[in-house]
Amino acid sequence: MHINAAFDSGNIDVIKAEQPDDIRLAIRKDHESDFYQWFHFKLFAEVGEEHVLTIENAGQAAYPDGWKDYQALASYDRETWFRVPTEYNGKELTIRHSPEQEAVFYAYFIPYSYERHQDLVQTAQQSVDCYHELLGETLDSRELNLLIVGEPAEHKKTIWITARQHPGESMAEWFMEGLITRLLDDEDGVARKLLQDNVFYLVPNMNPDGSVRGHLRTNAAGTNLNREWADPSLEKSPEVFYVLNRMQETGVDMYLDVHGDEALPYNFVAGCEGIPAYDERHEELENLFKSALSAATPEFQTKFGYQRDEPGKANMTVANSAVGERFKCLSYTLEMPFKDNADLPDEDFGWSAARCQRLGEDVLTAILAVAPKLR
Ligand code: ZN
Repeated sequence: MHINAAFDSGNIDVIKAEQPDDIRLAIRKDHESDFYQWFHFKLFAEVGEEHVLTIENAGQAAYPDGWKDYQALASYDRETWFRVPTEYNGKELTIRHSPEQEAVFYAYFIPYSYERHQDLVQTAQQSVDCYHELLGETLDSRELNLLIVGEPAEHKKTIWITARQHPGESMAEWFMEGLITRLLDDEDGVARKLLQDNVFYLVPNMNPDGSVRGHLRTNAAGTNLNREWADPSLEKSPEVFYVLNRMQETGVDMYLDVHGDEALPYNFVAGCEGIPAYDERHEELENLFKSALSAATPEFQTKFGYQRDEPGKANMTVANSAVGERFKCLSYTLEMPFKDNADLPDEDFGWSAARCQRLGEDVLTAILAVAPKLR
């Protein structure tokens, strides 16, 4: 029996792994930070025997509520990820699984590798509608990549979508893969209409360093990028610095920032009701987008979500608030679950990579509904 996490987005410390029925583990903290919750490791197992894997430090993780009713993911081929019985006792998280093959991967959510990220942007670049641009380099010297879809023109609206500021929220990049693939499908009417009147600026991974390092929430310097939008710096948060500068050049008519939520088993959005610039027009745009997305897919709902901000009380260091205020535009944080959509549960797979992709496709339908009113 052996456990290894020395690969892209790997994260686990082994405390004890002598007996299959008593494997003791701990999740490593994000570098220079106290956040942790993301895990991803490979187990060489005793085939057919029940393995009991206990994460001892689960109770002090960033979002302990995230472990309640959570089922961990496992995969033999790293393509199909299925849920395995998982229990949380308020302190430790215990995964029970009898592997059918000699080696199996476990993860907090379906990983999205840096290699797949490169495949995504290089494939997108093949389309005549897509231009691939380097925004800058990260602290670990990785690329911060931008895809520009559609030919920029004065009359066209500018729509920015960023994903994965929080690297452990890998569902955000699966969402981007679905959205980008649909947007570049020249036989898709929604995509063709969108590109007549709009240009898309897409950052599929805002935090490649944190992603590869196996972080939950921060970049290589231990910075939570989604608290840097008031005053980003090249030392602490170059990822935000580069994106905000580029936004300043293009202007922004609509912004979506894509995330995953540890605790809530729903897809939902968080808007701009707390920013100083919020007004009736902004509220109208928000309502139009929400009803269009609700009509497009039952995976989206508006009943459950974060508590609304009081007027003027938004945290202006958060991306969607900062961008909504600066550009007076429709600006949403979109959250997907780590667990499942409780309105449409799937016991075997939970919220999956394919469902993230479908939601990314459906969001384009909602953008089509709201786009004519954005300016
Ligand atoms: Zn997040």
